[in-house]
Amino acid sequence: GNPICECYSCYGGIDCSLFSSNCSANVEGGDPLFLEPFWMQNAASSAVVVAGWHRMSYAFPNNQSFISKELEKSIRKIHAIAKNAITHGKYIIFGTGSTQLLHAAVHALSMDNNYSTKVVANKIPYYSLYKLQTEYFQTRHCEFGGDASMLKNNSDFAGNVIEFVTSPNNPDGNLESPVLNGPNVKHIYDHAYYWSHYTAIPAPADEDLMIFSMSKLTGHAGSRFGWAIVKDVNVYTRMMEFISLAEMGTSKDVQLRALTLLKVVAQGDGKQLFNFAQQILMDRWKKLSHIFSLTKRFSLQTIPTQYCIFFERTREPSPGYAWVKCKRKEDKNCQEIFRVAKITGRTGRQFFAGDRYVRFSLLSGQHDFDMLIHRLKELISQEYEAN
Ligand code: PMP
Repeated sequence: GNPICECYSCYGGIDCSLFSSNCSANVEGGDPLFLEPFWMQNAASSAVVVAGWHRMSYAFPNNQSFISKELEKSIRKIHAIAKNAITHGKYIIFGTGSTQLLHAAVHALSMDNNYSTKVVANKIPYYSLYKLQTEYFQTRHCEFGGDASMLKNNSDFAGNVIEFVTSPNNPDGNLESPVLNGPNVKHIYDHAYYWSHYTAIPAPADEDLMIFSMSKLTGHAGSRFGWAIVKDVNVYTRMMEFISLAEMGTSKDVQLRALTLLKVVAQGDGKQLFNFAQQILMDRWKKLSHIFSLTKRFSLQTIPTQYCIFFERTREPSPGYAWVKCKRKEDKNCQEIFRVAKITGRTGRQFFAGDRYVRFSLLSGQHDFDMLIHRLKELISQEYEAN
């Protein structure tokens, strides 16, 4: 076998052709492999070959910058095509995944104050990284304060507040707006999923600090590339300083790959990838909604149909994740109920919503999604047999 090839789950053997029929559907993580077929269709134009002598320097030679101007231009163009963000008059910063930029943003917004800063997530359920990073790195005077409702009722908190607004939200896929407002509140918009793949785009986002990721746009999570769009020059400078001190800029190899991929995305009318991604996720959501309409034991999140300026029509939901609740009193540990039924999801506890919830990825490759549907049908049909 090829040592750099790994088999999809449920497949094994030296050439990955052995199917194991009693295996579990692995929908625990957030790997966006549903986009792999798009890149197979565009294999030649998206390939990157780098000669050994190419791009050896720390910085780009023409302007001594860590940031490729070409790539920055491509990113602005993609946002114009996607109609999901206004980049005009704003700075762009690159990071090793959006993960690094989330931390850089907290750092930038928390400097310069004598008061302590509370970092909060906008609502439960929320992505755990905001808490884990804030607590692990202990950026100046920063403390994690849970979700925003904790501060809303705490009117005597005098310090600064940084609120993460994850829109669409991970895990439930709904568009969100800030909970806290006021002169001492700053917002970091995590727009990793603000692409028409995953949500209706009601209007282009125009916030002061927005973070995007190649992981969820093109599916190249392993390349570790993200960018921030920043209005304020001081915040921009502090974030750049953070990236310089932490990493001396972002890998030039990765920037070259990102540029090549984005050029393929922008090809023709620039809509191919967006159509492809939305079609798959909308079909998956329809299949899933149908199955969940047949059960009283479990429920699926609701997402409104909404007008989308990208598709220029009202459109059905196509979220990246299913956020499932176990409704029976005795089903206290939802992840465990599904584990026994051979579906591996992520517990709601990791999103601070408790064990009654579980998240399934809808971003996986086709094999894992098909296995999810197969196992769900098996589990839900038991309800009918029991009656
Ligand atoms: N924000 C959200 C809401 C996410 O779900 C993820 C990844 N699952 C990230 C940020 C981080 O993505 P990356 O570092 O790959 O850009």
